[in-house]
Amino acid sequence: MSEVMVDVHGVHKSFGPLEVLRGVDLQVRAGEVTVILGPSGSGKSTLLRTINHLEKVNRGWISIDGELIGYRRSGSKLHELKEKDVLKQRTHIGFVFQNFNLFPHLTVLENLIEAPASALRRPRKEAEDAARRLLERVGLADKAGAFPRQLSGGQQQRVAIARALALEPKVLLFDEPTSALDPELVGEVLDVIKDLARTGTTMIVVTHEIGFAREVADTVVFMDDGVVVEQGPPAAVLDTPQHERTRAFLSKVL
Ligand code: ADP
Ligand code: MG
Repeated sequence: MSEVMVDVHGVHKSFGPLEVLRGVDLQVRAGEVTVILGPSGSGKSTLLRTINHLEKVNRGWISIDGELIGYRRSGSKLHELKEKDVLKQRTHIGFVFQNFNLFPHLTVLENLIEAPASALRRPRKEAEDAARRLLERVGLADKAGAFPRQLSGGQQQRVAIARALALEPKVLLFDEPTSALDPELVGEVLDVIKDLARTGTTMIVVTHEIGFAREVADTVVFMDDGVVVEQGPPAAVLDTPQHERTRAFLSKVL
């Protein structure tokens, strides 16, 4: 068994009176793909956002590769890290959003170079060579000089994935990466994610693509109402779910 890369432990998160995460535990091993399923409003995006400390947790903790995220421990107390230390931790956590979030005023190549050059202080030439290799990997070597608006949604999302990879993250988080795409563009983005899975990238993917979950996930997690209802290998969760709430959800999406 490989080591635990992402460890989510007893995480609670409220927005005012609304308790959105009600004690979430999740472990993702290095090199594995975890797919999170669940109805709208169940807390999936909030969970991803707590993993890179875009949201602070109210209770519990999260570690990546053994390092506490957003806090340092001193004795039995947790102290929140300074913003610059949080930003440094975030460079190890790639995030791919539903709406691509590319820098519109930068070319594709510049989108990939920006973070390694500024956050990691990589020499520009080195960052550019790495960026070109990544564009090749996502099948967009010929688009290096294009601006995001000149690309299809599927191409933009592939650039966003390449950009996340440019920081060589320890884990990649995807929040419904194909939900904003026209149906005919979904496949090309899922193919890139599948290729990453084959090469051992640790990933957590929130998606409604059940076929993708079945084919690619090592673990499928079903969330509802701020808790993990059940989790296991895809065949177990998707074909023989143990909980009524999982069955009800799957009967709507399958
Ligand atoms: P999912 O991604 O599973 O659809 P979310 O994590 O986005 O669910 O949201 C879970 C719940 O938390 C929803 O009721 C949503 O309205 C609420 N929520 C999310 N973010 C905020 C926020 N910043 N402030 C207040 N409520 C929020
Ligand atoms: Mg969401």
